[in-house]
Amino acid sequence: MLKPLLLALLCLPGEVAWSQQPATIEQQELPGLVEMYKNLHAHPELSHFEQNTSAMVAEELRKTGYTVTEHIGLYPDGSHAFGVVGILKNGPGPTLLVRADMDALPVVEETGVPYASHVTAKNPAGQQVGVMHACGHDIHTTVLIGTARALVAAKAQWHGTLMIVGQPSEETIDGAKAMIADHLYERFGRPDMVIGLHDTNQEPAGQVSLTPGPAMASSTSIDVTIRGIGGHGARPNQGRDPVVLAAEFIMQLQTIVSREEDPREPSVVTVGDIHGGTKRNIIPNEVKLELTTRSFSEKSRQVILDGIRGMAAGLAISAGLPPELAPTVTVLDGESAPLEYNDPALSARVRATLVKTIGQQNVFEDRQEMGSEDVGVFGLDGKIPVAYYRLGAMYPDRFAAARASGKELPGWHTSRFEPDPQPTIETGVKTLTAVAMDLLK
Ligand SMILES: [Zn+2]
Ligand SMILES: [Zn+2]
Repeated sequence: MLKPLLLALLCLPGEVAWSQQPATIEQQELPGLVEMYKNLHAHPELSHFEQNTSAMVAEELRKTGYTVTEHIGLYPDGSHAFGVVGILKNGPGPTLLVRADMDALPVVEETGVPYASHVTAKNPAGQQVGVMHACGHDIHTTVLIGTARALVAAKAQWHGTLMIVGQPSEETIDGAKAMIADHLYERFGRPDMVIGLHDTNQEPAGQVSLTPGPAMASSTSIDVTIRGIGGHGARPNQGRDPVVLAAEFIMQLQTIVSREEDPREPSVVTVGDIHGGTKRNIIPNEVKLELTTRSFSEKSRQVILDGIRGMAAGLAISAGLPPELAPTVTVLDGESAPLEYNDPALSARVRATLVKTIGQQNVFEDRQEMGSEDVGVFGLDGKIPVAYYRLGAMYPDRFAAARASGKELPGWHTSRFEPDPQPTIETGVKTLTAVAMDLLK
């Protein structure tokens, strides 16, 4: 049943859009994939909790003919992750890992689409939160399944081994590490190349972009606890108010990038979460901050870490706090991601296939991205080449209107991030399949 789709794919002349071909993809595959996407979108699962999504991926891969193993991944606390691997051996040749992430975010959806998520769940802190696929990992998962199917149907045109990976917990940056720690490569073979994609609000559906070399920043997660001496809100002089100290600290942090970092090094320090106190007239004993930092080199990362530690130590001194009440600074290695480096040679090859598949006018070279990704973990610190490209996901008319008025459509991690399902999935499956087939030809 898939044969006409693949023939259409393979015979496609470069500059003609897939949808303009007399292909049967729309009738046969695409509606089902769009339905799958909408179902995934309406039922998002937080990082570490991707039970149903991973089971769906496993079932789909199994149905398509892959040898599937579930529950791959070991977190540092000894719990198992919901990683899925589907293996398809198709004669001698290289092993290609095709990866998609599956997890969603604690965001209350506000897109208003008919298939919007109304899911709530408890986050690791025990709070009830809305859950949304606000990073489009439901698009990636759907594209992965579509690509896995297309590659089975085109088996006669490639040789080698396919390793299809459904990765959990990208948003907490510990899913890829958990899969590697669970001996992914010892159990299923070490790939020769890793490919994948991420959707974006920076391009309309139908377009893609690729950044050779350093493409996405490394990220480091840091917890800071500002301690003080609590008391009555009416008698601040009798304590040391950690809320005021936290405010000072947050403002000081803004000078790390502007005054301490080399201006030629792009970097970011963000406090994304701050918690302290229980009631307006009680000065609490402590305030907790969660930070994320981004950089493109180890040197630049160290400047940030040294800055945070130095400012934390100085804060206690200036407040006259004893050393045992100095702020604590904890670097969460398990929640930190390495630089995403696109191997230049592999990127050039992928780019050539992208151009051949959807036309020069739809393939761009993008600037470095401060967002982070753990896909690079599958490359074992540069030992295995990785190529990761971006998939335009916006409604083309809305994208054009926003650009014309100098605005941007809502992006990753926002409550109104809204991919245009059909053309995004279509372009994703078409390009990822073509790239895989070229690498295994
Ligand atoms: Zn994300
Ligand atoms: Zn993402």
